[in-house]
Amino acid sequence: MKRGEKQSLQPVTALVRSREKHWVGDGFFVSTVFSPSQLDPQLLSPFVLMDHAAPRTFEPSLGRRGVGEHPHRGFETVTFAYAGEIEHRDSSGGGGRIGPGDVQWMTAASGVVHEEMHSQDFSARGGVFEMVQLWVNLPARLKMSAPRYQAITHDRIAGFRLGDAAGRLVAGRFAGVEGPAQTHTPITVFDLQFEAAGTADFELEPGSTTLVFQLRGAMRAQDVTRVSQGDLLLLDRDRPGRVKLQAEAGARALVLNGEPLGEPVVAHGPFVMNTREQIVQAMHDYQSGKMGHLDRGV
Ligand code: MN
Repeated sequence: MKRGEKQSLQPVTALVRSREKHWVGDGFFVSTVFSPSQLDPQLLSPFVLMDHAAPRTFEPSLGRRGVGEHPHRGFETVTFAYAGEIEHRDSSGGGGRIGPGDVQWMTAASGVVHEEMHSQDFSARGGVFEMVQLWVNLPARLKMSAPRYQAITHDRIAGFRLGDAAGRLVAGRFAGVEGPAQTHTPITVFDLQFEAAGTADFELEPGSTTLVFQLRGAMRAQDVTRVSQGDLLLLDRDRPGRVKLQAEAGARALVLNGEPLGEPVVAHGPFVMNTREQIVQAMHDYQSGKMGHLDRGV
């Protein structure tokens, strides 16, 4: 490549259009943006699955909506609150509330049992709710490590400018800033907001996995691909290059990047392990109470 010449654009491997929605419990009306049953888990690695609860208005309610006690093992759940509030409680004693702009990074690892609910205040008040939940895989050597909980409030998330976009870096080093999340493998996660129509142009580590999810509005990616709200782009890991997003005013995208783990992925319900035997063990350990339980009467 000649000096001063710009790196070519990274090709798109897959464009997944917005999918049908389904309820998770009674609080989360989501579309599954990607999952190992829809795309080759090796192409997604280190990411496993992502659900988007697009903006939706909930009426005031006396009770809290959400999803009750359930387990996880072998990976991390990362919850991004964009509108509304979520309360979380788990069997390791972790818990908390996240609101607009906040992120909860929960490492389930060897196993937790938790519940995820709209907050009491939000339930009583009602209003618009929007959330993303991302599942990040753990390498085999860390699947049975101790659970951990990182509550990342919006004021700790590093802001940056990228072309015409305002960025917020949750994890990794990018655009001269460092994200607050501690990750177990190299991961970069940020969102981009375009107040006015414009362009953002960037490069990520060659050989890494890059996914771009359109949270709001529309844009053109890599000069040719038209992307609308709810769509997902998977870029070609084997042909690194620039990522170029030309967005309309008000557009918002979430960018996920990470080093592939290169290990077998066996995902079953709330467990993500390397072998079927480990899944059977996880089910047994949950049923026999080894992942703990939530205190009752709260
Ligand atoms: Mn969960």
